[in-house]
Amino acid sequence: MIRTDAIVLHAFDYRETSRIVRLATREAGVVSVIARGAKRTGGKFGQGMDLFTSGAAQIVLHPTRDLHTLGSFDATRARPGLAASLARFGAAAALSELGMRCAPEDGGGAIHDVLVAGFDAVSVAEAHEVIPRTVTAAWHLAEALGFAPTLEHCAACHEALDTEESVRFAPRAGGALCARCAALAPGARALPADARAMLLAWAAGEEGIPADAKVARAHQRLVREFLEEHLADGKPLRAWRDWEMNGGHAESR
Ligand SMILES: [Zn+2]
Repeated sequence: MIRTDAIVLHAFDYRETSRIVRLATREAGVVSVIARGAKRTGGKFGQGMDLFTSGAAQIVLHPTRDLHTLGSFDATRARPGLAASLARFGAAAALSELGMRCAPEDGGGAIHDVLVAGFDAVSVAEAHEVIPRTVTAAWHLAEALGFAPTLEHCAACHEALDTEESVRFAPRAGGALCARCAALAPGARALPADARAMLLAWAAGEEGIPADAKVARAHQRLVREFLEEHLADGKPLRAWRDWEMNGGHAESR
């Protein structure tokens, strides 16, 4: 039995009275738990198991199984702001999906903390801030998992890259490429100097906002392609793609 901070990434009904919940925890990584009796009103889980809610969880870990038992969950922070607009909700679903691709042993408590920071930022984001806040959290997740992109040196030959120059960006290679290596990497995208500067600023913890919605959407696609390569074994990140196809509702609420 462990006690840990946790956040609800996903939940669905199971049989008559239970729910199966996917939690990002600080102590045990991302795990699936069964909450027995959670569908009963007035049960010990109360209303605290809503999506994107933070709480203190008691979990009985089963060493030989992938489904653990949730003893209790005391909500400490709901995030109703995430359901206040389609833009925020789509972004939160995309972030949740990233969390659910992480295994228990990945990143330890860092995944929980990155997701909490991301959900908090998105829950109060203005419409034009939703994409950059979400994309920033996604890059921080990559860093927590140990595969932050290479931006100041060529990811293939390690030659230093001039910060004033546009380069190519290749997810499979692990980041930016010099002209020589880019010629050998078909499909690498152009990464303008200002876009690379923004990636470096986000990595340094700054809260940059791209110049316009088109640039924001290019960042949204870039990080998704990178994470599909490194986090999802090349498989599509469906919630992220859905959010992206809806334009991230960058201009609407
Ligand atoms: Zn190179």
